[in-house]
Amino acid sequence: MKRLRAAITPVLEAGLRHGGTTLDDLAYLLPDGRAGEYTQRLRAYGRTGQPCRRCGTPIERIVVTQRSTHFCPTCQPAE
Ligand SMILES: [Zn+2]
Repeated sequence: MKRLRAAITPVLEAGLRHGGTTLDDLAYLLPDGRAGEYTQRLRAYGRTGQPCRRCGTPIERIVVTQRSTHFCPTCQPAE
């Protein structure tokens, strides 16, 4: 839990610093109507088939309880 918390905190801070994440559905926009720019920094989400930014393996997509989940099978292998 400590490791997870330590990993999540800087990601959330970076998301806030870059205005959040606006997906194709435009469900989230900044108060002035602009899209959040953190979307361009996502490492897996929405990048199905594109190379992992860390190792080059194509990003995969699965559906978990009706939600899309994107991951690198090399960097984030199932246990
Ligand atoms: Zn990877």
